[in-house]
Order: sequence, then structure tokens, then C-alpha cells
Amino acid sequence: MKILVVNCGSSSLKYQLFDMEKEEVIAKGIIERIGTPPSYLTYSVNGEKKRKEVSAGNHTEAFKVVIDTLLNGVNPVISSIEEIKAVGHRVVHGGEKFKEPTIIDDEVIAEIEKNNELAPLHNPAGLAGIRASMEVLPNVHQTAVFDTSFHSNMPKYAYLYAIPMRFYRDYRIRRYGFHGTSHYYVANRAAQLVGRPIEELKIVTCHLGNGCSISAVKGGRSIDTSMGFTPLEGLIMGTRSGDLDPAIPLYLMRNLNYTAEEVDDILNKESGLLGISEFSNDMRDIMKAAEEGNQNAKLAMEMFCYRIKKYIGAYTAIMNGLDVLVFTAGIGENEPEIREMVCDDMDYLGIKIDPQKNNFKGQEKEISASDSKVKVWVIPTNEELVIARETARLIS
Ligand code: AMP
Repeated sequence: MKILVVNCGSSSLKYQLFDMEKEEVIAKGIIERIGTPPSYLTYSVNGEKKRKEVSAGNHTEAFKVVIDTLLNGVNPVISSIEEIKAVGHRVVHGGEKFKEPTIIDDEVIAEIEKNNELAPLHNPAGLAGIRASMEVLPNVHQTAVFDTSFHSNMPKYAYLYAIPMRFYRDYRIRRYGFHGTSHYYVANRAAQLVGRPIEELKIVTCHLGNGCSISAVKGGRSIDTSMGFTPLEGLIMGTRSGDLDPAIPLYLMRNLNYTAEEVDDILNKESGLLGISEFSNDMRDIMKAAEEGNQNAKLAMEMFCYRIKKYIGAYTAIMNGLDVLVFTAGIGENEPEIREMVCDDMDYLGIKIDPQKNNFKGQEKEISASDSKVKVWVIPTNEELVIARETARLIS
């Protein structure tokens, strides 16, 4: 059975076609600059990356390019569209309604649309992908897998903010959490790798990419996570501030005359690693500059790791222990020095990594020292595989 997994941004469409018998990716690619020509398709054929200009004025046109490439590309992987049994879509915000992945119908679309104001950058893009897919493949099952679902069973005392209850009652202002599909995948994979049932384990998962979040996973459930009402809360990220005193945005508006939109941009697009370093949101640039003696870059790394450390401590406390610590996503998978800085001086909590074992990029490997009470693992995330599996489960 073949399943297509689609992940849409406002101007991009990423896809992977899975053969579910072997859980193998048989084709993948990305279309960028949708709606602002020239648009480009980047895809791989026999392990070799290819890039070509395509016509993609909107998501439907982009989706048609994907199907055409699968059917008639340099190395066609399907001979008819009937071979695609379902399309699984990544949707960022499922709100309180979607605690599980779901098959998409008109009612589901209307519900996702209701969450647009909670994720104005992400949900409309996901919907554009769903509508494009329904238009091009009208007879194929479509499913939605939500970034928020894995966190949807957090206890009320963890997901509420201490503001007047009417804001939760009337406007659903609460913590939702994001990156759930990634946290779910690496936590379950960690349980497999340490050879114990997840129901018995206390796991902290650190998703450190351009967006960063951390979760406490107890008995297989996310019981707390660092992102909140929006993906702005929590860790320091590429361009997002993460946690800060809520009086700061008020100060910026009242005393320095910034508008709400400007403050939104400052906290989401100009802060984090970019704000501190004053030159880049990309950890690779920051680390290179730090090595060359740039003090702002060094500070950005220190602040980034310090915040993660604080959350690991807090999550160990709320779970009354820790069995496995996992690093994933761009930085977590590829930056040994960041992993080392986070885990440095954590032997009180039973965390000790082996610098030799830790010296690699992008593999699934244990990095804890042999006498570390906590097992520390690097596990490359695979959100697409979760979406494909959930889709296969739903349509069967
Ligand atoms: P992501 O959002 O998961 O793609 O992660 C992006 C972040 O990972 C950026 O800060 C990159 O600097 C960092 N990173 C470090 N090494 C790599 C790598 N080899 N490939 C991709 N991202 C990397």
C-alpha cells in the first residue's frame, strides 16, 4: 500500500511517498516559492538531488506537479494515481477538538478552519494542502495528523494559565503544545531502543530545530511541554524568544510605542538566537562565529543551553525521576557540542554523557556514559513516518 504524506507551509509543499509494506520512502521532495514565481521543485532520484523550475501559482498547482513527478518524473514510482491509497496531512493546530488523527471530511475542515486564528501562519497552509489534495485526488482518503494531539492529555493544572478563567472558558486560551508528532515518535522509539515498555518510562524529549520544544513523557503520555498557546513559549529558538516576562510586550507597547503587530514580529522573527547574536538564527553560523571568538555568538549558545537545562530539571521534578533523555531535530541530531553543554554538570540528576560516543552527526545512537543512570539518546525524528502509519491505521 502506498501513502503520500504532505506537509504544507504558506509557500511550500513537502511530500514523501511511502510503501507501507516495508515502511520505505520511495519518493520525496519539496516545492518552494509557491505563488511567487519562479517556483522550484527539489526532489531525489536514486539518492541524487535534482532541482527544476515548475509552475506553481498556488497549492493545487503545486500538488499537480507532485503527482505528475510521481507518475512521469525522471524515475516514475507509480504507474497510476490509483496506487496512492491515502494522503496524510500534517496540521499544526488541532485545538481542543482533535485529540487523535482523523479522516478528513467537510466537518473536519470546518473545525480546522476554526483554529486558524490560533495558528494564523500554519493552519491556513495545512488547509490549502488538504484542499489541493482533495481537488486533485477526489477519490482518495485524506487524513489529518495534528502537532497538538500528543499533548492533548496534559493535566488541567499544566495546560491552564493563571489568568481569569473566563479567558479559557470563552476563548480557549490555554497551553496546547506543538511538535507533538516528533515528541511522540522519539519517545516511542526511545522505549524500543532501551528495550522497556513505554508505560514504565519517564522520558524527556528535546526537539531542537529552528523551532524548539521539550516534553515530559510519563508512561507514554505527554504530561507537559514547553510550547504553549502558540509556538512562542518555552525554549530559546532560531528567531523566537521563548519564555519572557509578559510585562515586556506591554512595556514595548506603552513606553516605546510599538504596535501589537510590531511586537509580534520582534518576539517571533527577531528574537532568539538571531536577537542575541545579532547576525544569524542558524546554529551552524552561531557555532562557527563562537569558535572564531564572537562573544555574542558564545552568549547565544550559553543562553540556549541554559534554558534547556532548566526545563530538563523541571520535568525531572514533575515526573519524580528520569529514565531517558532524547535529543532530536536539526540541532539535537547534528550538534554534539550543544548536547554536551546541555548535559554538562548534570550528574546530580544522573545524566552523564560520554564525549567520545557523542562525537557524531545525524545518527540514531546512545551517547550516555556507561555509569549514567539516565540513558541519553540521539534519535533522528520522523514525523512523516508517524503520519503515514496513522493514515494506514485510519483507512484500514
Ligand atoms: P530544523 O528546524 O530541524 O531543520 O533545524 C534547523 C537548525 O538545525 C538550524 O539551527 C541549523 O543550524 C541546525 N543544524 C545544525 N546542523 C545541521 C545539519 N547538518 N543539517 C540541518 N540543520 C542543522
